Amino acid sequence: MAKKLNMRKRYEVLTRGLGWEPTYQPKEKVFPQETYEGIKIVDWDKWEDPFRLTTDAYWKYQAEKDKKLYAVIDSFAQNNGHLNLSSASYVNALKIFIQGVSPLEYGAHRGYANLARQFSGEGAQLACQMQSIDELRHSQTQIHTLSHYNKHFTGLHDPFHMHDRVWYLSVPKSYFDDARSAGPFEFITSISFAFEYILTNLLFVPFMSGAAHNGDMATVTFGFSAQSDESRHMTLGLEIIKFLVEQHEDNLEIVQGWIDKHFWRAYRVLGLVSAMQDYMLPDSPMSWKEAWDIYFVDNCGALFKDLARYGLRMPKFHEQATDEAEHLSHQVYTALYQFSHAAAFHTEVPSKEKMDWLSEKYPNTFDKYYRPRWEMYAQMEKEGKRFFNMGLPQLCQVCQVPMSFTEVSKGEPMKLSQRVTEFNGDKYHTCSDGCKDIFDHEPEKYAHAWLPPHQIFQGNCGGAEIPDVLKYYHFNPEDGGDYKGSTDEATWKAAHGLDDQQTTPEKSA
Ligand code: FE
Ligand code: ZN
Repeated sequence: MAKKLNMRKRYEVLTRGLGWEPTYQPKEKVFPQETYEGIKIVDWDKWEDPFRLTTDAYWKYQAEKDKKLYAVIDSFAQNNGHLNLSSASYVNALKIFIQGVSPLEYGAHRGYANLARQFSGEGAQLACQMQSIDELRHSQTQIHTLSHYNKHFTGLHDPFHMHDRVWYLSVPKSYFDDARSAGPFEFITSISFAFEYILTNLLFVPFMSGAAHNGDMATVTFGFSAQSDESRHMTLGLEIIKFLVEQHEDNLEIVQGWIDKHFWRAYRVLGLVSAMQDYMLPDSPMSWKEAWDIYFVDNCGALFKDLARYGLRMPKFHEQATDEAEHLSHQVYTALYQFSHAAAFHTEVPSKEKMDWLSEKYPNTFDKYYRPRWEMYAQMEKEGKRFFNMGLPQLCQVCQVPMSFTEVSKGEPMKLSQRVTEFNGDKYHTCSDGCKDIFDHEPEKYAHAWLPPHQIFQGNCGGAEIPDVLKYYHFNPEDGGDYKGSTDEATWKAAHGLDDQQTTPEKSA
């Protein structure tokens, strides 16, 4: 009788035999990107397959998930599910999602497809191929889900065009471009480990529990559908770094450098998420600071204790990220508030209830530093002088966030943080020690950064006036500005029969 193989063995039999030794060309020519980063792979067969799925089973599972998801999306659309949201201002979080995140899913699809081609180990090829298809599915299901909102609200009509051009979207775009323009091992360390393994909860929890808290069952459903892929992706993230450091001792320093760099890059992207989570959700499930404490300080603290036996340590500058947790969302949302006349979402001074929630969640910082600023903005608004910043901000050369972070770790939270590096006779400005460190390590790469304000000044973005630039972005005039008085607000009020003073429908008893 044939002995039954365990799952791991069975999977090895199914995948390992798929490769072959090339004879027409030397292996280095067939896989030209595998060595130039300095990573040494001694034996690809030591790779532990993280997914252990056959292609056949993969398609069956994914088809099942899609069937469920599309049934929910259909009934959501037929029942006008958008009318059950907490408020139309919630849709601003979805705008950030589809403009900022969905194009990254597509970028991930492209990136993993490249890895499937560039890695010579068959196990890694298969895992990357499946993840590539997952990511394509994510961008598609997100577009399909949010297309219902596009029928009723502004700012959702051309996210992929916007992603490639718009100033605030260059923050996520430049991070992914950074990873995708690196070699395959850096890409996978960046996206699979630094982003998916370390930080993904900080992206998905606010968006998905945020959706649940604000009555958006459509988004909750695509979130869950993606989350089950995500757990496979996280397994790949952990597997890849263990594999790399076990393959050769020379790999450790390189991998640690990539973890340091991409942790900081991804963390800066999440600055946008922190603002969305604390300010743009009418009803927030938890604050950025609470999420940071659970998902980074506790969970990643434990993870790196575990990884110490591989010689890996916590990413550089993680202490500064933790110091900033009580300031981040306030600083980023203030920047968005000032520049939302040039954005495809709306912002507003937080309501009284929101400010009280922020005081409670940020007892050390909100009342002291940020509430007075919001009260000043509210006063200006009352006097008919709603504050929009008509200048163009200076951006950090690395993360591309407007320079609005402060010297929190030095105990000076009201002092702007700015670092300068001279390179080839020019000065380059960065927002923090983390970004300066990244710049200084590869100045020839970041000196080329496509910085939106510079491009506007050089005349590459449609013209010299704001309306020219907005047209180049494919924004419509009603997409930006304050939520109060917006088309979205008017649509919402009309649908719920609300008068001028009311903003949300009466809760039925
Ligand atoms: Fe994804
Ligand atoms: Zn920066």
